Amino acid sequence: MNDRDPVESLANLRHEFGEHGGVNLSIEASTTFTVMDPSTLPQIFEGAKGPDRGGCYLYGRHFNPTVYNLGRQLAAVEGTEAGYCTSSGMGAIAAVIISLCDTGDHIVASNTIYGGTYALLKDFLPTKANIHTTFVDISDADAVQAAMQDNTRVLYAESFANPTLRVADVPLLSSIAHNGNAKLVIDNTFSPLIMTPHDLGADVIVHSLTKFISGASDVIAGAVCADRDTIIRLMDVQMGPLMLFGTTMDPSVAFELSMRLPHLPMRMREHSDRAMAIARFLHEHRLNVTYPGLESHPDHALATKICRAQYGYGGVLALDVGNAEAANALMARLQNQYRFGYMAVSLGYFDTLMSLSGSSTSSEMDDDAKSQAGISEGLIRISVGYTGTTEQRLEQLHSALKLVGLI
Ligand SMILES: *Cc1c(COP(=O)(O)O)cnc(C)c1O
Repeated sequence: MNDRDPVESLANLRHEFGEHGGVNLSIEASTTFTVMDPSTLPQIFEGAKGPDRGGCYLYGRHFNPTVYNLGRQLAAVEGTEAGYCTSSGMGAIAAVIISLCDTGDHIVASNTIYGGTYALLKDFLPTKANIHTTFVDISDADAVQAAMQDNTRVLYAESFANPTLRVADVPLLSSIAHNGNAKLVIDNTFSPLIMTPHDLGADVIVHSLTKFISGASDVIAGAVCADRDTIIRLMDVQMGPLMLFGTTMDPSVAFELSMRLPHLPMRMREHSDRAMAIARFLHEHRLNVTYPGLESHPDHALATKICRAQYGYGGVLALDVGNAEAANALMARLQNQYRFGYMAVSLGYFDTLMSLSGSSTSSEMDDDAKSQAGISEGLIRISVGYTGTTEQRLEQLHSALKLVGLI
């Protein structure tokens, strides 16, 4: 679909050496910065003269050099002009939406999104800001088109939906958004490198870096990748939500995460290979497994068309065992008897994580919304890790499934 290689883009970026020439960049721990030329100060405050524009840094909640560096790296991966980092994925999502929408504006969003984003759009924004959202099945182009209004400013979806793994048809969604007066915002948390939505027509990419990009379940972090104006607007001293709500990233976190980007390609490939092996195994045993890499998945052809084959189809799959009791029995065996993985929310960890979507990460949705989004009570989301060997993990899975009577 597109020829740009995100790993090449990252490698082409100017290498940041440390203050003393160290191979790694330094952590800029200062919360305030010396203004070398007093005549530049008004323009720095107006946002006209940032560090890239002949000015200098201002204050740690505004641009910080270490955080800015990680932002540049993520922008290189996503193929956007600019990027900046936030204290969490929700910090990025909330800031982008409130920046793009004014009171009275409208959003069209996928009905299958992360629970926190759903709560923000469904309950928080209408109450606090008179910003209303229509939720639709984004795989139904007519429904998306019909939901668009004159005051729709944002069309919002996740690259791979959580937890149904429906794949966003970004080229199609971007044409619908741009026919109106809306920006297409894509949450690419599930598929870094696998999909780069900006190359496919999306305007703004948001990430929870807490997941695959961290890879170790040890930091909460987020990012926004977009054109330079959108990023600078987030930081505006008068009206910038990142600057004013203060959900920017700490420089030590930025340093940590930037050390992990060089091995992100290897990790994503390994997550995907392992997930594919497990999905195939479950499918061969006639279990109800959802994974975009399987030909049985409704979006397999779409994913194959718009994603990068060398990184596979992602590290997350869903297994529906019918009811919560069976799901809990299986997860307990897998964790406590076989050490196949852990019962914990979140994803992108080096070990396997399993959770019941309906009662955890999608618990913000009511029963109707869950059933529309295809989330049943026996649906286990599995984020496949890469510890141990594939053979060992398949044996453990086989034994546990047998013990609880699912095969
Ligand atoms: C976890 C997650 C978020 C929220 O990110 P935090 O870093 O926990 O704030 C947003 N979107 C998706 C798809 C997620 O999985």
